[in-house]
Amino acid sequence: MTNAYSTQLTTIPLLKVRVNDVDMREALAMCDEFIKSRKPHHIITLDASMCVMAEQDAKLRKIIEDSNLITPDSVGVLWACKRMGKSLRERVSGVELVEMLCSLSPEKHYRLFFFGSAPGVAEMAAEKMMLKYPGCEIVGTRNGFFTENDNNDIVAQIQNAKPDILCVALGIPKQEMWIAEHIQTLGVPICIGVGGTFDVLSGNVQRAPKWMRKLSIEWLHRLISNPRKIGKVMTLPKFVLLILRQG
Ligand code: UDP
Repeated sequence: MTNAYSTQLTTIPLLKVRVNDVDMREALAMCDEFIKSRKPHHIITLDASMCVMAEQDAKLRKIIEDSNLITPDSVGVLWACKRMGKSLRERVSGVELVEMLCSLSPEKHYRLFFFGSAPGVAEMAAEKMMLKYPGCEIVGTRNGFFTENDNNDIVAQIQNAKPDILCVALGIPKQEMWIAEHIQTLGVPICIGVGGTFDVLSGNVQRAPKWMRKLSIEWLHRLISNPRKIGKVMTLPKFVLLILRQG
């Protein structure tokens, strides 16, 4: 990971990957520098399920290793670091980072592209953001269901829209793999894998109520509202075991 930026990144090893101790203010300052540089940057929003996947997946590990910023996306990551005696200051989730970038777009003229999720969802999320933050520039959307043959068209659509920030919601690790494969040809300064962010921003999926987030049981809300999420939720005990085994 390279860091020639004004924010000095503290990097904390976590299982076979790493995470940066950044708060939202610093993450946004880094995004601003990334955009000004016009060079491609990959931001990872790291959660417990990605850590578990990276245990077995060397390609994913390399992508995380080569990224420019790794934010702590989940309370699981915060808990694990705290247990290792390296408390992180704040959770910087993909949903909140994307919404903050949208809120800054009118003033900073950030151009965002929403790629991923079921047909109509990215558009709805874009509409909601543009309504909430008048002047927010979302310069393109594309759903996340496609075949290998569509890749050239998708890349061309993104290149023509000339965004500063490409938010990719294809799920972990598909979004990270897609970004790694195309980042050098896209010509976009920031690519972020954002998981279920458009589902939340569009209003299709409700975030857990505040009290549940406070108790760190957002995963329970996710499971109740979408039992198909069982696979992802089941990575949590595995993550906890891996951390506990570290001693
Ligand atoms: N998705 C997609 N294309 C796919 C698989 C998934 O666009 O081939 C979308 C899906 O509709 C959802 C998002 O990717 O909006 C994944 O959300 P999830 O909360 O499962 O993300 P993760 O937990 O993997 O970060």
